[in-house]
Amino acid sequence: MAHIIDGKLLAREIRGEVKVEVDRIREQLGRAPGLNLLLVGEDPASEVYVRNKGTDCEKVGIRSVIVRMAADASESDVIHQVEAWNADPSVDGILVQLPLPKHIDEQRVLRTIDPDKDVDGFHPMNAGKLMIGLDGFVSCTPAGVLEMLKRSNIETSGKHAVVVGRSNIVGKPLAMLLAQKRPQGNATVTICHTGTKDLASYTRSADILIAAVGRAKVITADMVKPGAVVIDVGINRVDHADGTTSLVGDVDYDGVAEIASAITPVPGGVGPMTRAMLLMNTLKAATKNLA
Ligand code: NAP
Repeated sequence: MAHIIDGKLLAREIRGEVKVEVDRIREQLGRAPGLNLLLVGEDPASEVYVRNKGTDCEKVGIRSVIVRMAADASESDVIHQVEAWNADPSVDGILVQLPLPKHIDEQRVLRTIDPDKDVDGFHPMNAGKLMIGLDGFVSCTPAGVLEMLKRSNIETSGKHAVVVGRSNIVGKPLAMLLAQKRPQGNATVTICHTGTKDLASYTRSADILIAAVGRAKVITADMVKPGAVVIDVGINRVDHADGTTSLVGDVDYDGVAEIASAITPVPGGVGPMTRAMLLMNTLKAATKNLA
């Protein structure tokens, strides 16, 4: 059976490390590091995500402020709020919870965030820095996956990494990170998507297989090379006949765990790491303000 990479445990370890650093730099800053979160509208899932992010901050001594705007807030209301936070030196990190209501241009809002406060790493400046290997903010899920590989002593150099999914927030940045010429990189990377013909022929050649698809259990055991490391980014809610629901990944966990060398569970794998990386990014943003 595969080794289970415990994202909860690793995230707890990271939160402990962040807390120590937060305590240290609080003295130097003369205040706690601060993360401001903007939630527009009443999407229940977004409400939970934002609340969890605030709670995570509290646990490590980061001050969080959540501002809620009504679903009919205008694009300029949102942009003015972001600009005010850009100008406020007590705000180290800014996060605008996505998705925004349809009448607001998300990319325009993300472009307004000061790249040095962009703890989600979605600003084109940070996406560009990642592309050319410069230090910037890396979005939390890809950063979390890399941190997971690092802390689990999984070698990436010289390995074939197959990333299924090419979204701007997960698949593409993850593929780019794995291809960089540096530790936790230096892999040969293949990106698969809906245009890929015979997906299994690619996934079966992966030493490290990363599923960021958003389709429940789409990666089955026959698509995985024995001994591969399998990282499941997917979070899918499935309905059961008895009226209950549960969360499953993009990987058919039970079958794949029998042949992989290591695997991440859902829940309890990449999800907690994503949350932990937001704290690391906020700490990084606050540390920049010491300079
Ligand atoms: P997304 O924007 O919908 O992208 C999904 C990608 O998968 C697309 O590139 C799509 O290809 C590809 N794809 C879809 N069906 C496919 C198939 N049958 N075969 C091959 N490729 C296929 O999703 P996302 O935002 O990247 O998120 C992916 C999953 O990760 C979701 O379940 C999401 O909930 C989860 N997620 C988890 C975390 C976490 O913290 N654990 C964070 C973010 C996202 P095309 O480009 O051709 O459409």
